Parts: sequence; C-alpha cells; structure tokens
Amino acid sequence: MTHLDQLSWAEEEFPRQEGFTATSSGDAVTVVGICPRCQGQTSWTFRKGEMGAVAADDIETVRELMPTIICGCGHLHDKRPDDSDEDGCGAFWKIALTP
Ligand SMILES: [Zn+2]
Ligand SMILES: [Zn+2]
Repeated sequence: MTHLDQLSWAEEEFPRQEGFTATSSGDAVTVVGICPRCQGQTSWTFRKGEMGAVAADDIETVRELMPTIICGCGHLHDKRPDDSDEDGCGAFWKIALTP
C-alpha cells in the first residue's frame, strides 16, 4: 500500500482495525500496522503503566484492552495544527491484534 501524501490532516475516528501485530520488549509493547486513513505505517509503543491500572508489559494485556492508536505515520500532513504533538494524519482507532 502507498501512503497518501496529499491527504489533509483531520481528526477522524475509525472502526476497530484488525491485522496489527505487537512485539514485547522489556517494559514496552510496540504495536505496528497500517493506518486506515492515510495507509501509512504506524507504530505505537505502550510502556508499562501507560494503560490505566494495568501494566502494559505483555502482549496479552494489550490484546485484551484493545487500546486506541493514533496515526503516527511520520508524514507532515497538510493542515496539521502547529500545537499538535501527533505524528500522523489525525486518524485514531482501536486495534485488534492478530494472534
Ligand atoms: Zn500519514
Ligand atoms: Zn494516518
């Protein structure tokens, strides 16, 4: 898939996405997949303690919580607010991990 460079930034919620994979290392779990809006490769890292009361130190925990991911494709999409600390197109969605 090709990243949609010309897409303008917009905050937009997407339905639950499948096909994301997670890897665990040390005190963090990294989830990787494709953004449903701009098709960019997005990776999101959860560190221990960042997911509410439950420590995100294992993949099973992340799988159960179905956390929300914000696009982090790394592309500077047009119209992204200057004060945004996001690193993508503004899309967000919950993930279901591929077993
Ligand atoms: Zn993007
Ligand atoms: Zn995106």
